[in-house]
Amino acid sequence: MQLCLSLLSTGTLRAQSPVDSSLAAFISTIRAVDNHTHVNTTVPRDSEFDALPLDGLPPFALPARLSPDNPELLEGYRALYDYRYTDWSEPHRAELRATMQRVAREQGERFPQWVLDRIGVEVMFANRIAMGPGLAAPRFRWVSYVDALMLPLSTAREREATPDYRVLYPLEERLLQRYLADLHVARLPPTLDAYLRLVVTPTLERQRRDGCVAVKFEAAYLRALDFDDASEASVRPVYARYAAAGVPQHAQYKALQDFLFRYIAREAGRLGMAVHIHSLEGGGGFYRAAGSDPFLLESAFNDSTLRGTNFVIIHGGGVFAPHAGAMLWKPNVWLDMSALDQVLPAATLASVLRNWLEQYPDKVLYGSDAFTWGPDAGWEMGAWLAETTARRALGIALTGMLRDGEIPRARAEEIATMVLRTNAAALYKLSLR
Ligand SMILES: [Zn+2]
Repeated sequence: MQLCLSLLSTGTLRAQSPVDSSLAAFISTIRAVDNHTHVNTTVPRDSEFDALPLDGLPPFALPARLSPDNPELLEGYRALYDYRYTDWSEPHRAELRATMQRVAREQGERFPQWVLDRIGVEVMFANRIAMGPGLAAPRFRWVSYVDALMLPLSTAREREATPDYRVLYPLEERLLQRYLADLHVARLPPTLDAYLRLVVTPTLERQRRDGCVAVKFEAAYLRALDFDDASEASVRPVYARYAAAGVPQHAQYKALQDFLFRYIAREAGRLGMAVHIHSLEGGGGFYRAAGSDPFLLESAFNDSTLRGTNFVIIHGGGVFAPHAGAMLWKPNVWLDMSALDQVLPAATLASVLRNWLEQYPDKVLYGSDAFTWGPDAGWEMGAWLAETTARRALGIALTGMLRDGEIPRARAEEIATMVLRTNAAALYKLSLR
């Protein structure tokens, strides 16, 4: 009875905060590595921030937290632009716009770096078609796109499956043309062997030379992630038959894509680049969520010829987060929390993180998926939102583990540092300050 009473009184007198305050203070000092963003250059109307920008898709709504009117952003505008108000009245908005323009003008090409310093990020990965002004190494590191290399033949039949595909496939065809032009290759070589030798490998080598730390597949926007083991012999005739003209059957094209996916992943590994794979239930109104389940990647992850390649499941599988976590048993698979830390509030994200951190704390990476939402909400606002949410969620998850006696305080601090910073440094061999 005495025990019950004393528990009751402690509980009512002093409600425990979900985050241990000294752990939160420690986490706030860690300079992060952001594994995944679509940061913009300082070029006006920068259009190279995504190989598959979603603006052209049939209309669909983003999750609530990604609205430019999300009231949480008031604090972000305060942190970045010293915004003094607690509302969005038109005069206040006009003042904010003027401040944002002044900062952009004053900082010039230093603007992206200025943002990183404001939000406590040391290195930001830029998943972009190409880098540009304002995004110099070592603060910004390039992650290229390679889906186009997997799609050398006409996609006319593939496109018909959904209204989203009709918009997205032509973008990949255009990007492949750009890759060919970069290599001064006038048209597709007539054989698969020549395509691999004269287009795929040289493009990956060029990307590596230009500073790529990883290559990215956005394939889940275009097809399911079931990259089966197709032999080169079985797909050589498909390539040869349709390289110059014509449209392959879906099953033929899928097999060729499956082969090329594994070839590209193997070459990326040989060249020292990780392979990033989009795995989330969005976006788009016709997106196929079931096709982005990380379990679909298991056959590729289990390919013994790909064990020299490090894979990162980007967005942690989204709704399939436990499936992404299950893939961490593979020695060459990591995941990041990008986008989840914008879409989910900290308390919800914390339970996702805790499941991963209790099992593979050395394979979980911080990422934001920062991208520009609109004229008043640039990539820096997404970066701020993700960054703030991730630190709080980490604090909640690690405080829970601490209070449940799973780990001592020193280990909680160590795991926070690993997730925000040193796991990425180890995976990509980054030398951090
Ligand atoms: Zn992204």
